[in-house]
Amino acid sequence: MPKLKNIVPLKKWFKGIGDSPLIIAGPCSAESETQILTTAKQIAALGKVKIFRTGIWKPRTRPGSFEGVGKQGLIWLQQVKKETGLLTAVEVARPEHIDLAVKYDVDILWIGARTTSNPFSVQELADYMKGIDKPVMVKNPINPDLQLWIGALERFNKAGIEKLAAVHRGFYPFEKTTLRNIPKWEIPIELKSLCHSLPIICDPSHIAGNTEYIAEIAQKAFDLNMDGLMIETHCNPTEALSDAEQQLTPHQLNILIENLVVRKATSDDETFTNILETLRNRIDSIDQQMIELLAQRMTVVEEIGKYKSQKQVTILQLRRWEKIVTTRIKHGKALGLSEEFVKKLLQLVHKESIQRQTEVMSKIKSSK
Ligand code: PEP
Ligand code: MN
Repeated sequence: MPKLKNIVPLKKWFKGIGDSPLIIAGPCSAESETQILTTAKQIAALGKVKIFRTGIWKPRTRPGSFEGVGKQGLIWLQQVKKETGLLTAVEVARPEHIDLAVKYDVDILWIGARTTSNPFSVQELADYMKGIDKPVMVKNPINPDLQLWIGALERFNKAGIEKLAAVHRGFYPFEKTTLRNIPKWEIPIELKSLCHSLPIICDPSHIAGNTEYIAEIAQKAFDLNMDGLMIETHCNPTEALSDAEQQLTPHQLNILIENLVVRKATSDDETFTNILETLRNRIDSIDQQMIELLAQRMTVVEEIGKYKSQKQVTILQLRRWEKIVTTRIKHGKALGLSEEFVKKLLQLVHKESIQRQTEVMSKIKSSK
């Protein structure tokens, strides 16, 4: 269980943050005073965004790429606050960044995915945060390691940060995928179920890596009851010095927000609650039957194991396994189940079956 104490709900972080899901928007990087102020004014004019994000120090994969404008960008952010009333958020990766961000009144600090992956850096930053009352948002580490993410959140919480949130930005894909980072939704869901009070914000821009998929991912995040979105927005994305392919214009951001369906986590409607209850009862009963059937299957598997052992036959019967896969996939497809799902399920069941047979055979062998 994560040891996170006294987490403050998002809406209590600042006055006027409101009840609706929080939208954070702004360019990947601060590039010039004009770019920052134009983007911020266009975003503020939508009236739907409360927090303006931007990168001042950029962690780039290779040296020599645009590494951020540094300190002068913080002066532009002060200007943004003054002229638009938006709150500001920047990524910090070194204690000097925290020091400067605090000096220039940045409202929220976030820890980037690369930094979260390194407990030494996280601890150094958490130590520096002691006594500083600023909200901290912690992006997930690059690799899908929930414990590492929790560890980083715990380090800040132990340092006294109670206005704390997690940002889900997807995980590095080792295979080629259409998305830049694999969402692995089960990881933020697990985090939320381990710590109900922790706000989780989704960053669909870094998951997508491309403007095409951002809306779909944002909707999915809302459907999973996430608390907000961080969306990269630039007044002129094609000219952006970093992440040009994934930044929306403020106009595109507006369309995206307008089309988002915000569903409620619960409903007071009695009929709805009753129907939901009935459906959940059905699910419970089906799950129970599924578990019982799997247990029965394993009993039969053990019988087969004994039999194979008597006849000195190998556990893995490749042809039989291939036949199982093809027939079950065909059956599943006829019932509307995807090939991928049926295959994964069978692989899991088959692995357990082989394990059971191995155990049966070694027991028989040792009793001889
Ligand atoms: C960013 O938000 O611009 C960024 C660098 O993100 P991440 O740390 O998720 O890669
Ligand atoms: Mn970016």
